[in-house]
Amino acid sequence: MTTVRKTVAFTTTIPQEVIWAAGAVPVDLNNLFITGNSADYIHRAEALGIPRATCSWIKGIMGVVDAIRPDTVIAVTEGDCSNNHALMSQFRYHYPDMKILGFSYPQDKDPQMLQLQLSKLMNHLQVTQLEVDRVKQKLDGLRHKLFTVDHLQTEHVGMSGKALQQLLVSSTDFNQNLETYEADVDRWITLLSTAPIDAGTVRLGISGVPSILSDLSDLIETRFPARIVYYEVESDFAMMEPSPTLVSQYLHFRYPYELFARIAVMNQQIKERGIVAMIHYIQSFCHRQIEASLIQKLLDVPVLVLEGDAPGPVDMRTQIRIEQFMERITGATL
Ligand code: SF4
Repeated sequence: MTTVRKTVAFTTTIPQEVIWAAGAVPVDLNNLFITGNSADYIHRAEALGIPRATCSWIKGIMGVVDAIRPDTVIAVTEGDCSNNHALMSQFRYHYPDMKILGFSYPQDKDPQMLQLQLSKLMNHLQVTQLEVDRVKQKLDGLRHKLFTVDHLQTEHVGMSGKALQQLLVSSTDFNQNLETYEADVDRWITLLSTAPIDAGTVRLGISGVPSILSDLSDLIETRFPARIVYYEVESDFAMMEPSPTLVSQYLHFRYPYELFARIAVMNQQIKERGIVAMIHYIQSFCHRQIEASLIQKLLDVPVLVLEGDAPGPVDMRTQIRIEQFMERITGATL
């Protein structure tokens, strides 16, 4: 007899170690939205009353919850998206039997406050610190392998930017299957270890919330002699730097906290990876758009800011802006 495991879904990266320790399945709603029938999820959300002029990621999260009806949804109420408060009300109204929990990343980065949030989550899922620490140890090994792929991809050709982006972003729930995810990571390590060294293509990075534009990386890599070797937010989600405890791991997670730490890391990565330009992605109707002007001012390389709204390919106007930017970058460096 097969046991049906409980699904614990979430609106952004949260300590999934606790969910695995409880024997439940972590589900990053964003990943299901962008890899599934995105148009249907948006349509469902609008039919349930989410206004049209709302960020598509929020509509997608609502639509996926409506479609899959997880046992529990964890909404990050501090450190992520202000829309999540309103989303929680929608969940409570439409799905009264679903468990809806909040999770906060304390903005002052107080370790005790974060431990309190973790303890609340552990109590809810009925797991002990010891059980969670055992899972952390196991996931640390996988995160280290991911670090290897991430760095091999910069130095070797053989893995597209899009493939790297998908591998990193899906680490927020490891595609709900640790074994198949790890096998995929192992395959990339083997492939990249023997792949030719990059002989000097123009290297770019992408920052900002994960792009909703399906072909952004492919478009750049196929039309220009360039490679995307760094995904800022996705590599932050993947938590590839070792941390001794779960609290320190989630305090090193930069996305929920202030911008300047992210900028410092971006400039360090730009230097280490030999990146000559960055593309900063912003989402329509997102409060994080306010950060874009600072990113443009404070990064050490030229930055092109691109905005997307609905899931789908890059539109013609954006393509022209990318072409103009890339001609300037490649012309200056080739
Ligand atoms: S893109 Fe912005 S508005 Fe949309 S879910 Fe993310 S943080 Fe919220």
